[in-house]
Amino acid sequence: MSQLTWNKPLPQPTVASQPFWDGLKAHQVRIQQCEDCAHWIFFPRLHCPQCASRRLAWRDVAGTGKLYSYTVARVATLAEFSDEMPQLLAVVELDQGPHLNTTMVGLAPENLQVGMRVRPVFDERPGSMTLLRYTAVDSPQAEVIPAAPAEASAGVVVDSPAAPPQRQISCKDLAAMRSLVSDQWTDWSNDFLVSQQLIDQFAALSGDDYWIHTDPQRARDETPFGGTIAHGMLIHALVSRLRMPLGFAVVDFNNMVNYGSDRLRFTAPVPSGSLIHGRCRVKAVESVKSGLQMTLEIAIHVLGNERPSLLNEQVILYM
Ligand SMILES: [Zn+2]
Repeated sequence: MSQLTWNKPLPQPTVASQPFWDGLKAHQVRIQQCEDCAHWIFFPRLHCPQCASRRLAWRDVAGTGKLYSYTVARVATLAEFSDEMPQLLAVVELDQGPHLNTTMVGLAPENLQVGMRVRPVFDERPGSMTLLRYTAVDSPQAEVIPAAPAEASAGVVVDSPAAPPQRQISCKDLAAMRSLVSDQWTDWSNDFLVSQQLIDQFAALSGDDYWIHTDPQRARDETPFGGTIAHGMLIHALVSRLRMPLGFAVVDFNNMVNYGSDRLRFTAPVPSGSLIHGRCRVKAVESVKSGLQMTLEIAIHVLGNERPSLLNEQVILYM
């Protein structure tokens, strides 16, 4: 299962480049021109590379140009891009002169030709950023690639593909985010089997091979649990295996960070061979200096047990 549908690195706007990204968001290619020497400039800068003037103006341009150079990447430059292979990495020369790095879309690699006329394609990404792609001027490729609905909300919770469409909530809309706070638990997630094999693997990985986890015979004889039990931290980690039907997706962020936990309790043992499932609820939403912080209370139970085995108040930071 996927934890994040969009887990690719995104550009980080700077003071100099922000107007460029704002332009793309409005489906407009916007580049700088020097007001002293009329030189066209890309990438965004604070001074003119030709005459060093600081009097730079942002201008909307058509964004058209020609393919200056390209390469067909058949091995992903990062694992996160492996779904885009082959990637058509290109340098486009704008009609105003500057070159920019981009990706060609809507074209087969064999149809790329240096010098061909190209036009911009605005690729909207979940999380409020639009990227600039290019295609051939005569390609049937749409001018805008709309953002797919963001599915992940916390890095730990995603709806199953069969779930109804989620309500999208902008993390910049504090009132809407606050309306998510509720005492009501979600429905249960899928079930997941905590096998002895998994416990043994976690013991090897973590180095915590205490017999209460790894020696079924001794655990049967010497504990009240009737056998081995899972490590609390294993159950904590297995939240990634549980798809919580949250019913909403937070959008409009550049970065989402697992900020840790306000409270983590292992409230009941999980015997080896148990099926677990989980549910959650939004406990708190607050505006913080770096963005918006959501506290998601997660409960993991052994199936049929009213008492949870784990309670975690996970803090997620949207920036
Ligand atoms: Zn200049």
